[in-house]
Amino acid sequence: MARKALDLHCDTLMKIAKSGDLNENQSAMVTLKGLQEGGVALQCFADFVPTGMFPKFCRKAATNAMFGKFYKNYQKMMAFHADTLFPILTAADIDKAGVDGKIGILLTIEDGGVLGDKLENVKKYYDKGVRLVTLTWNHPNAIGYPNSKDPAIMEKGLTDFGKEVVAEMERLGMVVDVSHVSDGVFWDVAAIAKKPFLASHSNARAVCGHTRNMTDDMIRKLAEKGGVMGLNIGPEFITFGSEESTVDGMVKQILHIREVGGSDILALGSDFDGIHGKLEVAGPQDWPKLEKALSDAGLSDDELEKMWWTNAQRVLRAALA
Ligand SMILES: [Zn+2]
Repeated sequence: MARKALDLHCDTLMKIAKSGDLNENQSAMVTLKGLQEGGVALQCFADFVPTGMFPKFCRKAATNAMFGKFYKNYQKMMAFHADTLFPILTAADIDKAGVDGKIGILLTIEDGGVLGDKLENVKKYYDKGVRLVTLTWNHPNAIGYPNSKDPAIMEKGLTDFGKEVVAEMERLGMVVDVSHVSDGVFWDVAAIAKKPFLASHSNARAVCGHTRNMTDDMIRKLAEKGGVMGLNIGPEFITFGSEESTVDGMVKQILHIREVGGSDILALGSDFDGIHGKLEVAGPQDWPKLEKALSDAGLSDDELEKMWWTNAQRVLRAALA
């Protein structure tokens, strides 16, 4: 039996078959079979809408349409697999994940731009079952600024509205996700967050110099705040400029992140179905490959248990109502 796993991010909602059957789309990295083989008991599914790619004059309508399309996919998937999948809506739901083969699905929004610029929308999406929001994708939105090679953008933080959104999410019981944000937004969130937050799918910038990854100072701060960072297995985030993601590269990332942030910060955040290239971990069924490599590299059983389950579970539990 594979170790019980919690994966903080995948983009598979873009690839759901008409029937809702997760095993039907051969091109998807995440299948129900894969989740079961890999021991995944809780999988976050992102409703991914890159709001900044739509021209301003139709942004709101296009955003709502795209969110709605993937939300329908989520509903179809949950209905088709109603005997196995169930939604994670409360902290108590987390305990049911993995019991009797049930897999908890936590719905997330990737690009908080979906929330538009009205605070009441946070509750609107909460009521739809969304329990985690990735504050930005790779464009600015009403909440704040994205990671960027431009230092002027990288240092910009949360807007006043963004600060209200973070407080409202914490009040309702939603997880604040700082993957994709600017360094400025990260530090602003760290300054105002009252609960632990996380980076669902980000790695260490010292190992791989992509602006999507986190500096050692950020990793230390995240650890101090009780947060976690999910290992993103996308080639460009593991090894700079690479089109191949290897288990070796992942081990290098994890050993560095552990050295800087300690083992309580480690988690999984695959980014399956949102990444491309040659992947040694090609789906959830391959998590045991990484587990073995990390064990060989010196991670203790206790540390692997933390990385696979306990750490991310701790943050979700603290954030959800
Ligand atoms: Zn992403």
